[in-house]
Amino acid sequence: MSDCIFCKIIAGEFGTEILGETEHTVAFRDINPEMPVHLLVVPKLHCRDVTELAQSNPAALIEIAQLATKLAEQHTTDGSFKLVFNTGSNAGQTVFHAHAHVLSTEPKSA
Ligand code: 5GP
Ligand code: ZN
Repeated sequence: MSDCIFCKIIAGEFGTEILGETEHTVAFRDINPEMPVHLLVVPKLHCRDVTELAQSNPAALIEIAQLATKLAEQHTTDGSFKLVFNTGSNAGQTVFHAHAHVLSTEPKSA
């Protein structure tokens, strides 16, 4: 979608560092982190939210969980993480390209 910020990131328009990738998903850092580890995993194909994703692209939904697990192993002390899908504006969704927040208070030290 031409006016979608995450579609533009996926297309490489901003040079955003891609932290991980599967066939149907990519991951990058949240621009405004709310925890020491705050990553986003998004489907490569545009869709509005996780509800639509579960219908249209369930493979991507499984890969989001798999990539989140791998990222948490790489970026947190013990692999623990929160996986959050804000769904709908009343739930705080602001970007209407489906995405999972991967969150942790315990970053792995360098
Ligand atoms: P939501 O509130 O829709 O669940 O989450 C959207 C998230 O996208 C927010 O945490 C926000 O900081 C992040 N975000 C918005 N614009 C950009 C951007 O241009 N680049 C990155 N990396 N994250 C963004
Ligand atoms: Zn999009």
